[in-house]
Order: sequence, then structure tokens, then C-alpha cells
Amino acid sequence: MERVGEIQEDAAIEIEALRRRVAELESLETEQRRAEEQLLITDRLASIGELASGLAHELNNPLTGVIGFAQLLLGRDLPDEIREDIKIIYSEAKRAADVMKNLLIFARKHSPVKQLVDINSVIEKVLVLRAYEHRVENIQVVTRLAPDLPLTMADYFQLQQVFLNIIINAEHFMLEAHQRGALTITTRCIGNSIIASFTDDGPGIASEDLVHLFDPFFTTKEVGEGTGLGLSICHGIITEHNGLLYAESKPGKGATFVVELPVLADNK
Ligand code: ADP
Repeated sequence: MERVGEIQEDAAIEIEALRRRVAELESLETEQRRAEEQLLITDRLASIGELASGLAHELNNPLTGVIGFAQLLLGRDLPDEIREDIKIIYSEAKRAADVMKNLLIFARKHSPVKQLVDINSVIEKVLVLRAYEHRVENIQVVTRLAPDLPLTMADYFQLQQVFLNIIINAEHFMLEAHQRGALTITTRCIGNSIIASFTDDGPGIASEDLVHLFDPFFTTKEVGEGTGLGLSICHGIITEHNGLLYAESKPGKGATFVVELPVLADNK
């Protein structure tokens, strides 16, 4: 009887070890899949970036002409209704020029100005910037920021831009779905990575959209509400920092955006 008990115990230990091994292999597989997906996205964005930058340069000159001549005309003595039409030409051309400017920011591989940065304090600063909206729009923010997070070398303002973009998107989609929202922000350090994650309780992202999130001009917002450039610029910024930016979501179950940055790995 005792022998049977021992065998059962040994078997249970072995099963547990196997279970752990399977879990390890699964997590390695997920990591590898994620790395491959990232590579594909980065490659695709690089070629779109080249096209975008060529296009933006070509279109910038004629646009500058339209804006300049509209301004010249506005300085003249004109009948009111013509003045109003020219104002529209001027403001629409300006809007197009702004899109071009963002496109160039996305395409330009501009080097970040790096300094020692505490990711927690960047997140806290961004939350202060959005505090008013969170209060009036009924958005609850829960933060779980690791107190002993190591510093990283990063461009403070670029990271601020990335976190702002992610948070403003979460606000938009949560409010659209149910006129309020819950946003959970966590930071932690695993191995050589600082990981910041932003989880909202909005509508989530359809699986066919997940692969296009970081493409320039991909947007599901109403016409005129979004340019679809935000996340592609964020992806460029995080890639320049040798980090990863990805999203996880099940439709109807909210979305999580994850930013992974190396701990002091690249301090150029
Ligand atoms: P824009 O905000 O102008 O649409 P972005 O590049 O910032 O551009 O976002 C692209 C798209 O990613 C959004 O239009 C939306 O479809 C999707 N998205 C981003 N964040 C979220 C989120 N928190 N929940 C659901 N969808 C999101």
C-alpha cells in the first residue's frame, strides 16, 4: 500500500514538472511568435515609411505654394464672399500640411534625445495632463506602478507622446462604448525589460484589425476624428528606443497596449 502511495507521489511530481515544462515552452512559443510579428510589422512600417516620406516631400512644395498664395490673396482688398472662400482654401491646405508633417515625423528616423528617465514619473505626468478629462468624463484610473523600477535611457518627451496617445485612444473608445471607463496602468521589470501596460475596458479590437493597428492611416474613428497616424508614430518611437509596442485584445473585452523598454541597455 505504502509503495502505491510512493508511486502516486512520484507520478504527481513528474506530472507537475511536465506541466511546468509545457507552460515554459508555451510562453517561449508566444514570445517567439510576438518577436516574429514585431519583425514583420517593423519591416512593413519601414517600407511604408519610405513611401510616405517621398510622398510627403513631393506634396509639401505644392502645399506650401497654395498656403503662401492664399495668404497673399487674403492680404488684398477682396469682396467678402471671395475672402471667405480663400480662407477655406487656406485652412484646408493648412490641415493637409499638418497631416504631411505627421507623416514626416512617422517616416523620419530621427534620433531620440536620451536621458535617464523614470517611466513611472512619465506616466504620472501624463495622468496629470489628462486628470481633468478623467474627472469630467467619469474615467477611473488605477495605477500599479512598481516602486523599484529601474531607470532607462529614453527621450522623455517622446515617451510622453507615446503614453498620451495610448491613453487618449483608450479614453475615446471607452467613452464611445459606454460613456465611462476604467483604465488600469501597471509597470514592472522583468529581466532586462521595463514593461508598462495600459488596459482599458472599452470595446476591444477585432482580430483582423490587430495586425493593422500600427499602419499609418489605419483608423476606425469617424472621418475627421482621427488620422490613424498616432500609433504608427508611437511604434516608430519605441522601435528607435530598441523596445517593443504591441496590443492584445479580445473583442468586447477591452484592449491592452504594452510598451517594453530595455533597462539601460542602449545608452547612446
Ligand atoms: P487614430 O487615433 O487617429 O485612429 P491611432 O493610430 O492612434 O490613430 O489608432 C489607430 C486605431 O487603433 C484606432 O482608430 C482604433 O481602431 C485602434 N485603437 C487604438 N487604441 C484602441 C483602444 N484602446 N481600443 C480599441 N481600439 C483602439
